[in-house]
Amino acid sequence: MSTLVISDLRVSVAGNQILNGVNLTISSGEVHAVMGPNGAGKSTLSAAIMGKPGYVITGGSVTLDGVDMLALPTWERAVAGLHLVMQYPTEVPGVKLNDTLAEALGARGRSTATLDATIAKEAARINFDPDLVQRPLNVDLSGGEKKRNETLQLAILAPKIAILDELDSGLDIDALRDCAKRVEDATKETDLGALVITHYSRLFEELKPDFVHILAKGKIVKSGGPELADELERDGYAAFV
Ligand code: ADP
Ligand code: MG
Repeated sequence: MSTLVISDLRVSVAGNQILNGVNLTISSGEVHAVMGPNGAGKSTLSAAIMGKPGYVITGGSVTLDGVDMLALPTWERAVAGLHLVMQYPTEVPGVKLNDTLAEALGARGRSTATLDATIAKEAARINFDPDLVQRPLNVDLSGGEKKRNETLQLAILAPKIAILDELDSGLDIDALRDCAKRVEDATKETDLGALVITHYSRLFEELKPDFVHILAKGKIVKSGGPELADELERDGYAAFV
């Protein structure tokens, strides 16, 4: 059982205060959706948790099982069990996905002996073309292929807590269903805890949130169950901005 605790997190970017005291606690097996209007600070939250350069922590804390994540470089946060599925996956020319996974498993002290077989099995589960693992990471992949690629990494690395920043942006309905279902499966098979940032409750057809939080103007302004997403779908964010 793992727990990510985000406490009174305050973050500024390029001199502007974007997050003004965010509190969230995510435990193994739980799915927490974070929804909110454009510019509310959702991507800033994911960037701050993972330690993206330029995102300045001006207050608060982020701990995973009591360990201060904000004191660690990004790769050590990942080794500790945090994982980010990026809204816009980065293209890395010259670096293959299978080599990336081998390095990441090695850093975690895990065996790579059966990696090829694991990749083949996991690729089949999400309808990802296994030939793409030999290609440079994300280079010239379609939107759907990039998100399947991200989901494949999540499935194989099996982090404790994953942050998914708009898994549903840039991919078609079939790819969305495959990726969302794989993440939902991970919450059951490997007890993954997930912080799921999205605009659209369509994602929740496969990936079932236990909690829904509304982020507006850099704060969580309301939390509830899945019914809160239906409310937003119906009424929009007008009441919160
Ligand atoms: P969301 O993901 O909720 O749409 P973001 O976290 O991306 O919102 O952005 C929140 C605010 O922070 C926006 O006003 C955005 O322009 C600003 N911001 C985010 N990242 C940067 C950055 N790297 N440089 C300058 N401003 C940024
Ligand atoms: Mg965003």
